[in-house]
Amino acid sequence: MNIAILPGDGIGPEIVAEAVRVLDVLELPFNTDSALVGGAAYEAHGHPLPQATLKLAQDADAVLFGAVGDWKFDTLERSLRPEQAILGLRKHLQLFANFRPAICYPQLTHASSLKPELIGGLDILIVRELTGDIYFGQPRGRRESPDGAFKGHPEAFDTMRYSRPEIERIAHVAFQAARKRSKRVTSVDKANVLETFQFWRDVMTEVHAEYPDIELDHMYVDNAAMQLVKAPKKFDVLVTGNMFGDILSDEAAMLTGSIGMLPSASLNSENRGLYEPSHGSAPDIAGKNIANPLATILSLAMMLRFSLNQAEAALRVEAAVVKVLEAGLRTADIWSEGTQRVGTREMGSAVVAALKAA
Ligand code: NAD
Repeated sequence: MNIAILPGDGIGPEIVAEAVRVLDVLELPFNTDSALVGGAAYEAHGHPLPQATLKLAQDADAVLFGAVGDWKFDTLERSLRPEQAILGLRKHLQLFANFRPAICYPQLTHASSLKPELIGGLDILIVRELTGDIYFGQPRGRRESPDGAFKGHPEAFDTMRYSRPEIERIAHVAFQAARKRSKRVTSVDKANVLETFQFWRDVMTEVHAEYPDIELDHMYVDNAAMQLVKAPKKFDVLVTGNMFGDILSDEAAMLTGSIGMLPSASLNSENRGLYEPSHGSAPDIAGKNIANPLATILSLAMMLRFSLNQAEAALRVEAAVVKVLEAGLRTADIWSEGTQRVGTREMGSAVVAALKAA
């Protein structure tokens, strides 16, 4: 099996290097090959997703992705900006299901802005649809002037749309994920106002008929945003569209204290996928050896489980991360009084050592 490694920009190369060290120590029979993506690829080849990088990703069983983007590319025309690489990969690899677990590790309960009793033991899974919704609807009323300004334009608009097959396949993904957990799904929509999401609710309910063992409830997105901060543990699997998922998954991520801890997986219908930390390229801390590599290492664990059929190795990696947290090691983003502050590289080394010792 082949793994494509795409480190990207900012802290991407630093955190991916640590995940690769973890992969190496597992001694599994995988080939790895890496390529430039994002701003780094634009600077070297004039495009954020060069053909060679796309081909490497298309030929791979899984992609380990760091992050892309830097403010210095903000003046480029939109199609050449680093962030287009991730959109292009989602499109070409037909990645339609984004999995974002939000887990609060007992050792990090205090890092949350919520009270420990509300957050302790949190373990929820947000399933976000990735290919439809307002981000891809036609027509788009976005007129891009060279400097990106809308001055003088009378209006702008985007169109929200979902097709039945798009909703059906994400519904199946969510119900099947719930089967391996506590068998509860909350579908989040805005059916009271938007036709698209009344349709979403109806199709979810139809597909649910095939899963009599799973409990389904529907919730409006404004209420879901409120419940996530009021009583997040009442959720188990939460499934929603592209835009609501974008917002709610970041909200859920921050509940757990640091975005530096949260992995993600984006899968296609053959379970091939792209695995990346939930955060971005953090240019403000790039090159300083202070970024938290654990979200990327945990993304590697998701890759082993979902795309590479190595559930046992995934458990070993996750256990090593817990061991390191138990030992009190913390990067700056999760550091607190009484714990030991370490850098990116040292955190990676600690996970490697924990794996070797297990
Ligand atoms: P960001 O997630 O990069 O950073 C937000 C804050 O979190 C920053 O203070 C950063 O220092 C901190 N942070 C992020 N990851 C961290 C880690 N591993 N350890 C410690 N601290 C961490 O979001 P942003 O600043 O809004 O965006 C920066 C760039 O990243 C932009 O160009 C944006 O477009 C891009 N971005 C890329 C992706 C992606 O590649 N999938 C996702 C989101 C943002």
